[in-house]
Amino acid sequence: MANFFEDNADLRWYFTRGLDWGALVRASEHLPLTGPYAPTSADAPKSIDEAKELFGDIARAIGELAGDEIAPHAAEIDRDGVIFEGGEARFPTRLEAVTKAVSQMDLHGLCVPRELGGMNAPMALYYLTSEIFARADVSVMAHHGFHGGMALAMLLFSIREGSTELDADGRITKTRFEKEIREIVAGKAWGCMDITEPDAGSDMAKLRAKAVLGDDGVWRVTGQKIFITSGHGKYHFVIARSEDTKDSDDPMAGLKGLSMFLVPTYEDLPDGTRKRVVSLDRVEEKLGHHASVTAALSFDAAPAHLIGERGQGFEYMLLLMNGARVGVGFECIGLCEAAVRLAEAYARERVSMGKTIDRHEMIADYLDEMRTDVRGLRALAAHATFHEEMGQKLDLRRRARKAEDPELDRAIRSHRARSRRATPLLKYLAAEKAVEMARRCVQIHGGVGYTTEYGAEKLLRDAMVMPIYEGTSQIQSLMAMKDTLSAVMKRPRAFVQRSADARMRAISSRDALERRVARLQVLESDVVRLLLVRTASDKLRSVREAPITEWVGTLSKNWNPKRDFAFAMLHAERLTRVLSDVLIAELLLEQRREDPAREELLVRWLERAEPRCRYLHDEIESRGQRLLDELAQAEAPASRAAE
Ligand SMILES: Cc1cc2nc3c(=O)[nH]c(=O)nc-3n(C[C@H](O)[C@H](O)[C@H](O)COP(=O)(O)OP(=O)(O)OC[C@H]3O[C@@H](n4cnc5c(N)ncnc54)[C@H](O)[C@@H]3O)c2cc1C
Repeated sequence: MANFFEDNADLRWYFTRGLDWGALVRASEHLPLTGPYAPTSADAPKSIDEAKELFGDIARAIGELAGDEIAPHAAEIDRDGVIFEGGEARFPTRLEAVTKAVSQMDLHGLCVPRELGGMNAPMALYYLTSEIFARADVSVMAHHGFHGGMALAMLLFSIREGSTELDADGRITKTRFEKEIREIVAGKAWGCMDITEPDAGSDMAKLRAKAVLGDDGVWRVTGQKIFITSGHGKYHFVIARSEDTKDSDDPMAGLKGLSMFLVPTYEDLPDGTRKRVVSLDRVEEKLGHHASVTAALSFDAAPAHLIGERGQGFEYMLLLMNGARVGVGFECIGLCEAAVRLAEAYARERVSMGKTIDRHEMIADYLDEMRTDVRGLRALAAHATFHEEMGQKLDLRRRARKAEDPELDRAIRSHRARSRRATPLLKYLAAEKAVEMARRCVQIHGGVGYTTEYGAEKLLRDAMVMPIYEGTSQIQSLMAMKDTLSAVMKRPRAFVQRSADARMRAISSRDALERRVARLQVLESDVVRLLLVRTASDKLRSVREAPITEWVGTLSKNWNPKRDFAFAMLHAERLTRVLSDVLIAELLLEQRREDPAREELLVRWLERAEPRCRYLHDEIESRGQRLLDELAQAEAPASRAAE
């Protein structure tokens, strides 16, 4: 008997002390965030402690399912893959049995509001337990996620477009996709997100699938989508081009012409039968994730339902972006946990040169770093999920109340800012660490790591896609860089003040660990300043001498992001690593304030983060000009020709 929740003390800590479940439950139950907890629904938990106990029980049951019914079959379902026959995809017997066992736990409605047949649990519970599923098998986790996740996306879209009616507390009285949501909650359907096309992945402005509004008032979508996870589902959220927005000066103009649609796979015919209107052209043969359908789809005038208004497709996609990145973050953590445990178990048994290999210094160092990293990542993921959920739930509360509430607005802004800061860092670091840890797991196994016998190579194959989907690592880095630098340029005084505070704490704090975290924060602001100075000096050399508070006016004129940001773009990934290291250190310091037992983790984290950040700072300071000059030279003939 294995239980992937019971055996994980760090994960369990987030169910007892590590997350503010009181705030999450109150937000989910439409109750005031302070004062006595007095639930208004008969089905709501009677107290926060009862809620925590219930969530722990659910996680325990999932831990047992993952440990006993999914993980033991992971090698078999990886070997068997999925079946593509006669234009349909289906699961082989074992995978079908595993996904059925997951469905029978009635988890698809875990976070769906009670009014729609769900359990109304906080999203944080879904995310934390998705780590448990992913540790057993990432493909099973992904397919599970395209049930509840799609139901909640339907709800979120409908709330945003105004087709959901709420009572004064924020409970749903009517919503556009109620039938579809109930079908998904019952485990009878799932959905998928269709964005990528053969010529457009990271560059969404190049999407070509077309949506046309017919004289009969029906939208129809035509085009191809590729790499669609669980694309054999019944409901497709499709981003398609409904407007022409040509502008040769603005490479992003193409984004404004996109709209979001819900496209059902089948059309119901008058004789009671149904016809497939979205063709499943093929199921990709991939390096890993073999038990997950990755579909290539064709739409040939498929009837579609517009979501929101024309041209708002990119905006609607952004609504899901943070949540989706948090989801991939937890998926990566599940895989990291599997890699650490597999490597540790092998290293404890394998003897080389007179002792088990976990006693050899280099291997011990790998294992120590892996153990520290997975816990640091979990702290970052828990922080991101908390603020993403609070931002969304309080926004729903504000929409329901309609009246002005500046305090609520401030709280929403603060949660959103924290979620936005944390999510690209989480997606970036968790995905990169998943690959690194899976590779180390193979290495620690030596020759047998390269065979299929122990499952280490499966982890590496499964991990390799993590830095690619849901926004590549490079795209996450560019977003983190853009957000960081533009925040400083918009509010330079706040940046200067924050740097000065950190410098003061680095010297004067009585707490040695707080001083160390503050020194890291100083290093982060030095990196940001360095990037800004170099970026700005490429545009305007004189800005170097000006105080940072005067940059805004000077820099806001005649800006060319392609040319002027070259230095920052070159170092975006290094900056992202520094930002992630520092944020995790800050979070672990906060955790230590709440629970002194977390000090040991903070110390371990700092031990590795400090030299890493110093190295990254030096790399940014000393490298890159030669390459940028070469790139500029290569671009010069092209831009002259364009003129
Ligand atoms: C298993 C799997 C499942 C997937 N599931 C889905 C799904 O459900 N729905 C969906 O819509 N899509 C899905 N995708 C597609 C995935 O999101 C894309 O593959 C991804 O966005 C990258 O796009 P691309 O493959 O076109 O690569 P490209 O965009 O061509 O990128 C190639 C490389 O260039 C880099 N690059 C691109 N632009 C820049 C830049 N400006 N600066 C620096 N580097 C850059 C990228 O980081 C990458 O390393 C899935 C893919 C896979 C493999």
